Amino acid sequence: MANLSWLPSALRAAGFDVVEFGDWRNVSRGTFNPIAVVLHHDASARGDSPGVPAYMQTPGNNGAQIWIDRYGKIYMVGNGLMWQAGAATEGRAGIPYYNWNALSVGIETDHTTGEDWPEAQYNAMVGCAGTLLAGFGQSPNRDRLVGHKEIQAGNPDPDGVDMNTFRQQVAVYMATGGLPYGDDDLSWSENLPELDDNLNAQPDKQNPAWVYMLVTWRLMKQARAELDEIKAKVGAGPNAPAVLTDADVNRIATAVANLLKQRLES
Ligand SMILES: [Zn+2]
Repeated sequence: MANLSWLPSALRAAGFDVVEFGDWRNVSRGTFNPIAVVLHHDASARGDSPGVPAYMQTPGNNGAQIWIDRYGKIYMVGNGLMWQAGAATEGRAGIPYYNWNALSVGIETDHTTGEDWPEAQYNAMVGCAGTLLAGFGQSPNRDRLVGHKEIQAGNPDPDGVDMNTFRQQVAVYMATGGLPYGDDDLSWSENLPELDDNLNAQPDKQNPAWVYMLVTWRLMKQARAELDEIKAKVGAGPNAPAVLTDADVNRIATAVANLLKQRLES
């Protein structure tokens, strides 16, 4: 009999803010064996909800196991089967259309149609989906990570989330730990010059670790310069829509850095 008792510590270890809501460990509509994740929005009024909508823990309601607020705080709401998928109309490999509730975990979000997605909230959605799928031993493909709108005809949720992009972002997160929106305190532009200074201030050419760092640093600097060049080319003027955002560049840079790391280690 599966449950989600393992999830809060896994999310906290990954740096997320987790709230254990009410008696969540004992909230369940039955036994389940989750192998997939369904993403939702709760259609609450625009702006910040005062907290987890109380109905989510009401028996018989379509509450989900997890609810994420607009600040990226992850609330644990249920610990077993919940009726989050409602009456889905489409199945996937190994998941008949009528059995989503027993085979998936629902992530609800404080969002309604037409509303923005704050960066912290979106990052938490990606991290939460990735942590769940890793826990299930599954990949973020279209059989195991879906939006409610993809499996229930006529459903709009989660509004404004391109699920193909979301699945790719979860794949990056699961492979590298990188989230779509970067932490400004850890941006390349701010920290890499410092790394350059430190490396050159204390040359240690007999030390393989120092040489490794220097080579990696040079390759990363080169990759970043090339990415900036591409970015400059695709952005035609200050009023043109950004084709690559800073988050895109950081994501690509993270992937490149990991590739370099693998090559250096092999
Ligand atoms: Zn839904």
